[in-house]
Amino acid sequence: MTTSMHSKDPWQEMLKRFNEAARRLDLDEGVWKILSEPDLELKVSIPVVMDHGKLEVFTGYRVQHSRAMGPCKGGIRYDMGVTLSEVKALAAWMTWKCAVVNLPFGGAKGGVICDPSRLSHREKEVLTRRYTAAISDIIGPDRDVPAPDVGTNEQIMAWVMDTYSMHHKETAAAVVTGKPLLLGGSRGRADATGRGIFDILQHAAHRYHLDLRNSRVIIQGFGNVGSTAARYFHEAGIKVVGLSDVRGAIYNKDGIDIAKLREYVAKNRFVTGFAGAEAIDAKELLVQPCDVLVPAAIENQITEQNAERIQAKLIIEGANGPTTDEADRILEKKGVHIVPDILANAGGVTVSYFEWVQDRAGFFWPESEVNQRLDEVMHRAFIEVADMAEKNQVSLRIGAYMLAIDRVAQVHKLRGIYA
Ligand code: NAD
Repeated sequence: MTTSMHSKDPWQEMLKRFNEAARRLDLDEGVWKILSEPDLELKVSIPVVMDHGKLEVFTGYRVQHSRAMGPCKGGIRYDMGVTLSEVKALAAWMTWKCAVVNLPFGGAKGGVICDPSRLSHREKEVLTRRYTAAISDIIGPDRDVPAPDVGTNEQIMAWVMDTYSMHHKETAAAVVTGKPLLLGGSRGRADATGRGIFDILQHAAHRYHLDLRNSRVIIQGFGNVGSTAARYFHEAGIKVVGLSDVRGAIYNKDGIDIAKLREYVAKNRFVTGFAGAEAIDAKELLVQPCDVLVPAAIENQITEQNAERIQAKLIIEGANGPTTDEADRILEKKGVHIVPDILANAGGVTVSYFEWVQDRAGFFWPESEVNQRLDEVMHRAFIEVADMAEKNQVSLRIGAYMLAIDRVAQVHKLRGIYA
């Protein structure tokens, strides 16, 4: 579940940060107005004949926040907590994220209110194809390129690609990223967000003088992002002491064997019950002793309720929107460095961009090349954000927004207003 579980309105949370950064940039009033609303919001009804024979109608959205920088880019989320406000916020975060890492993309996001764990394979396929058909006029390799997000995966991307290709009577591999390798996916895409987080951890540790060999990490969420980041940390000898998923949390002050845990989760789906750690209350996990905290699950997890008790010196946001504005202020006072989502988890969209480039060229890169280019992008973006923050005496988050908004604003200025 996402938004329905928490009180904060994600779009309002996004706007607070956007407005603060825009103020500091002395942003042009017209551009400010344009970027304060999405370019396009589409709501669609998705009728599906379920396996039991009855018809159910699902609600889906696709929001394009900004098309200034290029085709829009952003994932599709299948979750019961999907709301229009959440999809709008996620779309705007994609605009800023693409701009932070300097990709020629605008921001979009999609979502369908459903519980994918309760849908059969066939129901998921029918839902995905009908949703794709409903948004097929606004997506496309030069318009808007979806990707996986919470609750969706490469099989779902394959169905999106096939449905769009059937409608347009062409093989349109570049309409979606995060596809299976056989359909034009990129090597390294599945690991990209976790690898990017690992890159950022190293750069942030260096900049803020944190000795990673003696550091303890806690990760919330053990899905694509959390489990891959955990694997990279573990392989580099960095101790992961706490982990959680939607079922519960585990903690071991001496470090959790991530390779064994991944095997366990492959069989048992959840981290709970793993013999190599003790069960603890999931809410308490975030405030346990650690040096680095990586929220990699859902929005609004670090709030004014728990921010004061958080012990980490460094927070790296794997998830989108895990920290509320109030929590930001509390943590800033405590001197905690927060590497914001729009920088920390940008590895995924960066390799999605590489996938789109490879599909359009019809020429595929070895994994070593993908990884090397990804590492370069993350490094450069980290330096640019940290420098911007230092120069303006603001948090990394506001620094990242300032960098992104300034880039998008420059493009708006050059393109002008079509009338
Ligand atoms: P996922 O569905 O693969 O995994 C989500 C994980 O979070 C699961 O382990 C789930 O059990 C856990 N979870 C859900 N609710 C929880 C809760 N209340 N407490 C603790 N754990 C909980 O999703 P993902 O792709 O890993 O995405 C996670 C986050 O990262 C999302 O915010 C997503 O938008 C963001 N993100 C993902 C990517 C990507 O490439 N997959 C890229 C950028 C950002």
